Amino acid sequence: MTARAEAPARPPATRPEVAAGWWRDAVFYEIFVRSFADSDGDGVGDLRGLTAKLDVLSDGEPTSGDDLGVTGIWLMPIHPSPSYHGYDVTDYQGVHPDYGTLEDFDAFLAEAHRRGIKVLIDFVINHASSQHPWFLESKDPKSRRRDWFTWRDTPDPRWKRPWDDGPVWHADAGAHYYGLFWSGMPDLRLSNPEVEAAMLEAMRFWLRRGVDGFRVDAARHLFESEDGVAVDQPETHAFVRRLRAALVAEFPEALLLGEAWAGPEVVRSYFGEGGDEFQLAFSFATASAIKTAAIDGQRVELARTLDALRDAIPDRGFDAPFLSNHDMQRVMRSLKGDAAAMRIAAATLFAMPGTPFVYYGEEIGMQGGAEPRDEDKRTPMRWTPSGGFTRAKAAWHDAPEAEGVDVASQRGRVGSLWTLYRDLIRLRRSRPALSRGGLERRPIEGGGRGALAVVRSFEGARVLFVANFHRAPSGPFMVALDAAAAAPLMAEGLEAGAVELGAGTLRIAGLGPQGWAFLRLD
Ligand code: CA
Repeated sequence: MTARAEAPARPPATRPEVAAGWWRDAVFYEIFVRSFADSDGDGVGDLRGLTAKLDVLSDGEPTSGDDLGVTGIWLMPIHPSPSYHGYDVTDYQGVHPDYGTLEDFDAFLAEAHRRGIKVLIDFVINHASSQHPWFLESKDPKSRRRDWFTWRDTPDPRWKRPWDDGPVWHADAGAHYYGLFWSGMPDLRLSNPEVEAAMLEAMRFWLRRGVDGFRVDAARHLFESEDGVAVDQPETHAFVRRLRAALVAEFPEALLLGEAWAGPEVVRSYFGEGGDEFQLAFSFATASAIKTAAIDGQRVELARTLDALRDAIPDRGFDAPFLSNHDMQRVMRSLKGDAAAMRIAAATLFAMPGTPFVYYGEEIGMQGGAEPRDEDKRTPMRWTPSGGFTRAKAAWHDAPEAEGVDVASQRGRVGSLWTLYRDLIRLRRSRPALSRGGLERRPIEGGGRGALAVVRSFEGARVLFVANFHRAPSGPFMVALDAAAAAPLMAEGLEAGAVELGAGTLRIAGLGPQGWAFLRLD
């Protein structure tokens, strides 16, 4: 066994500003601007198009029923970039001309804030574009930018990618530069104080404009060891601590959300021993486990994952659960178009602790394209049965979707996936036990291998979530818990009169195939 197994993980201390942070009550929505809405008919989504669609996400009226009700937006990179995706930035203080201008961004931000929507932007710290003026300048060995990137006369063969054998050294101008992901993305040398200062200044630039925080891309890879280990270095943690301290000192409400694509133990390390690194990090383990349960019809991996998360991250308010993102196959495609599996996956997502994230189009069941290429995970939003994304003859990229997979067909329609997402988001926002509470898995007797029960609790308020992932009825099962009353808040497939309370147990007469229920406990 490893030393890690012998020494129990110390829980990250909850610091007051983390526990009280605005994001604890937020529901976020990830948007690829290029694929959301095209205002000027060039086939490419833009900020004006996005702004015009904000009412569908939230109209700022808590009582209206025709908005999704999200309270946060994460925008994938909006900066100038030679690529369609924008993860190779050429100007950290600009807006991609395809998307509009800084003025368009300010207008979007004002309209979002007017509706009570916070805005995170993607910030790519690990690397710049090979077209960035800093990098172009650094090609000259005598340039003052030479040390902004990692240049060697000859490639150091010890430096490797953590995940495959792809090249990390790239020949240029008579030397070799280090780029972990791709030759078009030379890694910034963040150990150079000038580079750190430049990145901090760029982040301040956006915070001063009113941005509410950043999603920090590739957070595990910011620093490399001398011999080229490019993941989870102590210097990376130290850098994140400096970043957090510097930004929060000036902007106390600023959120840093980390992309650390790893299991619970590694993710936990990115909150910092003193809770002084990322305030939130994506829970890749939750995404995988919920989808596995929805596909296999069994709770085993989800139960194991929830227990691992409980052990590694006792305060799961640090978690950002989600089902899929722009780097993954869309969840409805993973679930092979199984509508009931999609519904129980969505219900389970909103039963999780932390700050949930929805990937645009997930709420209408978009599958994206069938090819494994990234573009197929990022196809244009379907607004109407004919598309509705652009008035151009063709969108920048597209893929067919099944009939009814569009906002117009589903918005406000009883029984649609969009309406389910709306109702789950409203339920979550109305119950602090769901938005802020901890999670405890409860033992179950009976119900088969697909049955799961978790209790969410906050300041005495409790909500029980039960689910039957199996594609057959669960039959009766008993959940070990004490309650004087249990009232259904929202359910699918819960048999009428199905809940009975006994001494130390709650009996569910049955959940239908892929059925689930939220119950208020008193
Ligand atoms: Ca456009």
